[in-house]
Amino acid sequence: MASKRDYYEVLGVQKNASSEELKKAYRKLALKYHPDRNAGNKAAEDKFKEANEAYGILSDAQKRQAYNQFGHAGPGGGGFDFGQGGGGFSDVFGDIFEEFFGGQSGGGGSRAQRGSDLRYNFTLSFEDALFGKEAKIKLVRPEQCRKCDGTGAKGGATKRCTTCNGAGQVRFQQGFFTVSRTCSTCRGAGSIIADPCTKCKGQRYVEKEKSISVQIPAGVDSGTRLRVTGEGEVGLNDGPSGDLYVVITVEDHPQFARDGDNILYEAPISFVKAALGATLEVPTIKGKTPLKIPAGSQDGKIFRLKGLGFPSLRGYGIGDQVVKVRITIPTKLSPEQRRSLETYASLSEEEVHSESGTILDKVKSLFDS
Ligand SMILES: [Zn+2]
Ligand SMILES: [Zn+2]
Repeated sequence: MASKRDYYEVLGVQKNASSEELKKAYRKLALKYHPDRNAGNKAAEDKFKEANEAYGILSDAQKRQAYNQFGHAGPGGGGFDFGQGGGGFSDVFGDIFEEFFGGQSGGGGSRAQRGSDLRYNFTLSFEDALFGKEAKIKLVRPEQCRKCDGTGAKGGATKRCTTCNGAGQVRFQQGFFTVSRTCSTCRGAGSIIADPCTKCKGQRYVEKEKSISVQIPAGVDSGTRLRVTGEGEVGLNDGPSGDLYVVITVEDHPQFARDGDNILYEAPISFVKAALGATLEVPTIKGKTPLKIPAGSQDGKIFRLKGLGFPSLRGYGIGDQVVKVRITIPTKLSPEQRRSLETYASLSEEEVHSESGTILDKVKSLFDS
């Protein structure tokens, strides 16, 4: 039996080849010697098996290490179980056949490609979110070079690609397959630049600042994403442009908070107003609005001002302003205010701290007289 060839030699790679390099080398050999296209060719079959075996070992980190250390003998001289090339086989062939039969999955240089979507963060005030706003957005994005009309060539002059003769594809025979690949010289265009455009240096695209006006609808909230169709990056090879996503942040308001389409407002009122009832002047998005608080309103009671919230972004409807009453207690009392409260306390028979004897004393003196 002829001595085995070195696995690295079989695949034609360096000893320190990366797994990518190994895979590439193996694919090349597997394509060339695959039995499907070398029917009855014993030499090709042997080559195929040999490559298969080499790749099976070298694609497995553990086996590769053992092979590097012990060579073909393997640890303990028992040799390896070479079998059918391990898991690398179907993996690699999946790729290969996809490339053959899956159309353009290879080079793809001439394929129209959609431009990327762009994201733009936009901050606006509470009021602007409420009423909507036309926003001016400045973007820097690549655009087709105007000077050369996107050809990349000075004066638009191109010459026929000599590699593919203008076809954009190169065909070659592989076994009994005729394989067609995107031409790597012209990347499928069929023509190459005769003299590069001075503005884009043959790149076909230039970075350009562009102002876009975006209508921000009333009712947006932080996190709302607005899609502006076709304002993302331009596509390649006449592909469609991507979209621009404007992502909204709404600033806080000093007085109002927001809950969905409702505006929240806390109205501080004195305990006297809460007890006796009153009409408040409540700030709203449309100016001050009277709000009637009935006698006996408790702390935390909620009132709704219909239609004074945010318009709904989806469909119809509008939120309310939700007013929550917060009862305040005076921290300083004039002597007169104090006396009247003490009287109130005595009338409701509540015992409180008094500045002139106990309330009960006073009440008694009241009845005594
Ligand atoms: Zn070409
Ligand atoms: Zn140009």
